[in-house]
Amino acid sequence: MSIESVQANAVVSIEYALKVDGKLLDSSVGEGPLWFLAGYDNIVPGLEAELIGMKVGDSKNVVVQPEDGYGEFDEEAFMQIPRSEFPEHIPLEIGEELNVSDNEDNSRLARIESMDDELVTLNFNHPLAGAELHFYVKVVALREPTAEELEHGHAHEDGAHHD
Ligand code: ZN
Repeated sequence: MSIESVQANAVVSIEYALKVDGKLLDSSVGEGPLWFLAGYDNIVPGLEAELIGMKVGDSKNVVVQPEDGYGEFDEEAFMQIPRSEFPEHIPLEIGEELNVSDNEDNSRLARIESMDDELVTLNFNHPLAGAELHFYVKVVALREPTAEELEHGHAHEDGAHHD
């Protein structure tokens, strides 16, 4: 059975470009197409929803609102932590990304937003939170997933095991 169009559990290969506020942030040019397993939250939901039903060779422009992209910007998603609580090996620089563990040992990515002599302010928003995402996408290949890809919940570019 071959896969005719993008659907859940298909391995999909796309060429894409992402612009925010008219600025090109990311694209497959030079990187090669992106492979992903549909139906497993591997790409932003608003883009995946628009890809469903597309066939190899189809292309379109898709505008994704924040709630279907990287989420709304959350004014509350900031935390101030005394400088003294950071291990010495962590470079305290604005924009630095850190994995921060909470009391339940969940790890979350944060960026250093600002600092003063006493406190470091961490921002837990995704860098693209609140952004309207403008994608160009073209479907370049479709195939059945391997049993291993289904088990892992992601695509292996050439169908072979890698992680
Ligand atoms: Zn894997």
